[in-house]
Amino acid sequence: MDYDTLKRDVIIIGGGPSGLSTALHLQWIAPHLASRVLILEKAHYPRLKLCAGGLVLDAEIILQRLGLDVSEVPHVDVDNIHFDFEAKGLNIRIPKRHALRIIRRDEFDNWLAQKARSRGIEIKEGISVNNIISDKDGITVETDNGTYHAQIVVGADGSNGITRRCIFPNTPVYTARVLEVITPPYPHRPAGTSSKFGEFGGGREGAFFDFFPVPDNIAGYVWDFPTQVKGEPMRCWGIYDTNLLSNEKRPQLRELLAQEMARLGFNLDDYEIKGHPIRWFSPENPMSVPRILLVGDAVGADPIFGEGISIALGYGNLAAHNIRDAFQRNDFSFHNYKSRVLLSPLGQTLLTRWFITNVIYPLKWKWFQILLWRILKPIVVAFAWIFVLNWGRRMAQE
Ligand SMILES: Cc1cc2nc3c(=O)[nH]c(=O)nc-3n(C[C@H](O)[C@H](O)[C@H](O)COP(=O)(O)OP(=O)(O)OC[C@H]3O[C@@H](n4cnc5c(N)ncnc54)[C@H](O)[C@@H]3O)c2cc1C
Repeated sequence: MDYDTLKRDVIIIGGGPSGLSTALHLQWIAPHLASRVLILEKAHYPRLKLCAGGLVLDAEIILQRLGLDVSEVPHVDVDNIHFDFEAKGLNIRIPKRHALRIIRRDEFDNWLAQKARSRGIEIKEGISVNNIISDKDGITVETDNGTYHAQIVVGADGSNGITRRCIFPNTPVYTARVLEVITPPYPHRPAGTSSKFGEFGGGREGAFFDFFPVPDNIAGYVWDFPTQVKGEPMRCWGIYDTNLLSNEKRPQLRELLAQEMARLGFNLDDYEIKGHPIRWFSPENPMSVPRILLVGDAVGADPIFGEGISIALGYGNLAAHNIRDAFQRNDFSFHNYKSRVLLSPLGQTLLTRWFITNVIYPLKWKWFQILLWRILKPIVVAFAWIFVLNWGRRMAQE
């Protein structure tokens, strides 16, 4: 292979939302750089990615500002989001629009990759990066199909990515455990008939987060979302545990998910259960070394919920601005990348969420969870609206 064909100014490792967002933002703010960017993705689109696919408003705003309309992707819109403790709590609706949009990640990531390609970004699929080596002229990226050379490398390779493991081999990692199951939807129950599904026969509307596992030292929640798979209505269930209470005695995650599904008339044993870790944000997490930036789960997702799609899209915006500035100043140290992330609207929401995580999960008593989700409702909603959500529209854009 000709060495020159393997040289690029920017190599992005990983073609998930963070890598594709970095490339799309670079093309948007510095179009002359687009032809000098290469994304290396180990899988082939449409590739499977374990994820419930809940897109919050901030994700849609970031995409809209890139001129992208996510309603082109098959989706289910949810009008009500319930944050419950033992099936009772607060209900969020957003006037005149959906509260959450649910996509499937194979379809969403494939769509985003097509958009990037249509804007001149080169993506090589089926190439797995094995090693990353810095030298004085740039970065060498070794793959299972040749060796590449770049001025700048972006590690967008997810929670277990090789980039972070190469540049920060010994740093502590905060990782959540997550299990997910897809089932058919709640069965339709004709009015007046009895149902084996008890009180929920006929189903329930909306997306549900229930924090009932917290007093059992599971620092997280069980979710139940509507979704679709190849156009067929389905339900996506799962359990999320930040692992913050891992020093305490805990039941098996699977047991608690099975308990909640059984309450709603589903037998977990009838379905395939899958698990994947999520690396979550902490202000301690390192983010860059000279010539190498991390984005998305490689830096850290939202610790409260493990919400990471909007966050990954936001990191892409910040990385693109830092890369454009690096070329303009011919300074590839990225010494202030972390402070630029932390001071940005994305950094502010991540810091707030990290703080909340460290308060609400260790205060695991039942009475506190009831107070939080059932009694302090207006305060919780106002705080979330002001300090946690609505950061997407405040991100820099030119
Ligand atoms: C069970 C579960 C449910 C979730 N539900 C939600 C949700 O409802 N809403 C939400 O917002 N977030 C959710 N998340 C989190 C969300 O999936 C992630 O935060 C998001 O995918 C992060 O995007 P990313 O681009 O950083 O990483 P990823 O999406 O993981 O993309 C990384 C990419 O890098 C590629 N790659 C990895 N290693 C290499 C390599 N060596 N060489 C080349 N390519 C490589 C991978 O193939 C992949 O395409 C969930 C996560 C899990 C596990």
